[in-house]
This record gives sequence, structure tokens and C-alpha cells, in this order.
Amino acid sequence: MLIFFGTRSSRIQSQKVTSHTVCPHCESQNSFIATIFGTYFHIFWIPMFTLGKRTIVECSHCKKTYDEKELPESIRTALHKSLQDQPPKKAYWHCSGCFIILGASGLFLLLLIYALIFKAVKEDDFVSDDSPYNYEEVYTKDQTNYKTTNAETYAYQLKKDMLNTDYSPNIEKDKYSFALKLCLDAPSFGLDESTTGYFSKVSENKLLILVEIEELDVLTEPEKNKIYSKLNMCVDDILGGNTYQKYIGTFKNKTFTMLQTPEGVFKDDQAINELLLPFYEVKED
Ligand SMILES: [Zn+2]
Repeated sequence: MLIFFGTRSSRIQSQKVTSHTVCPHCESQNSFIATIFGTYFHIFWIPMFTLGKRTIVECSHCKKTYDEKELPESIRTALHKSLQDQPPKKAYWHCSGCFIILGASGLFLLLLIYALIFKAVKEDDFVSDDSPYNYEEVYTKDQTNYKTTNAETYAYQLKKDMLNTDYSPNIEKDKYSFALKLCLDAPSFGLDESTTGYFSKVSENKLLILVEIEELDVLTEPEKNKIYSKLNMCVDDILGGNTYQKYIGTFKNKTFTMLQTPEGVFKDDQAINELLLPFYEVKED
């Protein structure tokens, strides 16, 4: 039968007994050599742990050996003193199997922790990747936020532009407004020239024309329609061959009564500011 575990002994160290001794056998003085043996438990001849030490004393003169236990009291005391002065080295290799097991356990534990963390991270990824509902929700939310933010900016810009209408536009500063004022001829519609303001702005291939008319709420529908069509005609004249997308609006007190965009013509309650916001949208490259 194969014995694959058990105990073994090995010599750890030999050293001279330095304290004064006399050999009981040959009466030689200071002739003792102490040899320390370590006993260890092994599995497949791999030392696992120490079981204890045993010290054998040999007379270098007569070669008689004595077990520590059978030594006369005086020699045993001398031996202990000698070992105290010169402690024998420790045989750590008698525990090498133990260290291997400890190391392997530690490594296994580390790998286990790593695997658990890795698994947790992967599961997180899996949830977010494979959940179209969550993804869609976030995506839609982002889109909405994006649009809201831009729309707010555009609305702010539009309000600013509405405040910047000019009652007597300068040909240098705003040539379209200048030309439009001449073409529209506000007094011919019974409008007060000094309260009729103009604003124009070009962005990419888009043209914005804003006209502020003080009398809008006292004019009849036909009167207003005449103004709108003249306005449209004037803009076309002024642009000549330019193929701008036109955004034209007439307003009083920040409220539009007519808006003309590439989408069509909108009047009164239908002429909401938002219709002009596409003018402010900038194409992303
Ligand atoms: Zn002897």
C-alpha cells in the first residue's frame, strides 16, 4: 500500500555544546556536539507542518550518542544554556506545504472576489444594454432636454429681435428693412410711419422680416390682408433672385397677427411665436 502521508525527520543543525561538559563514557571534556532534528508531517513527501524537535548529543571523542532525555542533569543544563546562547535556526521549509496551501487559498480568495466584482459589473452592463425601455426613456429625455434648451434660446432671441425693430432703418445697418420701409409705404395704408418698426436678419439661407404695426388691432381683416400681401410682394422684390427661405411676421405688443414661413401663412390665433423658431435653428455639421 502506498503511504502518501506520515511523519518524517530531518537534521536541522549541528552545533558544539559550548558550556562545560564531561562525557560520562570517555570523560572527555567539552567534546559534545548537539544535533537538532525536526519532525514534520508530510503529504506526498511535501512537508506540511512541524510536529516537534529532538536533540541528540554526540561525544566527538568516543562517538557515543545520547538522547536529550537520557543525559545527566549537568550535561542537559549545559546543553540548554548552549542552545539558549546560540539558538538553532528555524526550519521553515518543514511548513512549505502549509505555505503553499495558504498562498493558494489566498490566491483563490482574490480570484473569487475579482470574479464576483467582475460579474456584478457585467450584470450592470447587461441590464443597461439589454433594456430598450430604459434606453429609450433616457434617449427621449435627452432629446427633449436638448430641444427645450434650444427652443428657449430661440424664443429668447426672437423676443430680442422683436424689441429691436427700427422705425427709421439705416441703409448701412439694415438694407432689407430700409428697402422694405420704402416699398411698403405705411402711410398709404393709413399707418403712422413713426410707430411702424422694421427688423431683418439673415441666417444661412433663411431671411427673417419683422414688422411692428401699432394699428393692427384697429384694422379690419381686409385692410390687414392688403398689408400682408404688399409685405410679401415687397420682400420678394427686395430679394430679387435670392432664394431665401422667408420668415415674415407682423406684430403689435409682442403678439403676432400674421406669420409667413415656408410652412405657409398663419394669422391671428394661429400665428404663434414658435412658428418662427426654425429660423433660429442652426444646421449641425
Ligand atoms: Zn565520550
